[in-house]
Amino acid sequence: MFNVAIDGPAGAGKSTIAKMVAKKMNLVYVDTGSMYRAMALSCIRQGIKAEEHEKVAQAVKDLNISLEYEDGVQQVILNGENVNAYIRTEEVGNMTSAIAAYGEVRERLVDMQQAIARQKDVIMDGRDIGTCVLKDAPVKIYLTAAPRTRAERRYLELKEKGQECDIDTIEKDIIDRDYRDMHREISPLKQAEDAILVDSSDMTIQQVVDAISDIIRERIS
Ligand code: C5P
Repeated sequence: MFNVAIDGPAGAGKSTIAKMVAKKMNLVYVDTGSMYRAMALSCIRQGIKAEEHEKVAQAVKDLNISLEYEDGVQQVILNGENVNAYIRTEEVGNMTSAIAAYGEVRERLVDMQQAIARQKDVIMDGRDIGTCVLKDAPVKIYLTAAPRTRAERRYLELKEKGQECDIDTIEKDIIDRDYRDMHREISPLKQAEDAILVDSSDMTIQQVVDAISDIIRERIS
């Protein structure tokens, strides 16, 4: 199988870019963040707090998460329910990065992600794909951008969806979330030694898509 790993901080544009590269290069896009988000959503719904490690660990044991594709768009199924519409809020995002630090949460999802990548040519995005999930991927990208740029992108995205938001709060949330993701004990977010760094601060979406597609083509040949 031919696998591409994309890691980077929140709001760097990983999912937008990975979806477009997937289409262009005929790969299956796997958004691993949405799997962690589904777990966090389930904890929130059960009234479990992020710091209640034991309860979170117990809750994830009983969860069933799977991915389906509708017209090429990934759908996350949590215990039989399609939860795509509920996992993209800031509340879920913050809860997600807190529970993603727990080993029990990561173990379950990493196994699932590796199983998917064994069966399909995937472009998988997340925080630990190049360093842990797909250590042998022939293409690894570390996609980043300045915090303010990432906050502005997220702000526009949320506004478009009609969600109330404040850009300074978003920037603070992004910085806090990155800090938690980069400083946790298990699989912290970092650039893999063999990953190519792409800073999208001053690049258009299309320029990033073209740059990554060129890297993939080079590796295939
Ligand atoms: O990419 P997204 O913003 O949807 O990810 C939400 C959170 O899930 C991240 O902030 C991170 O804490 C966690 N995550 C992770 N490992 C991954 C993907 C996401 O820890 N592979």
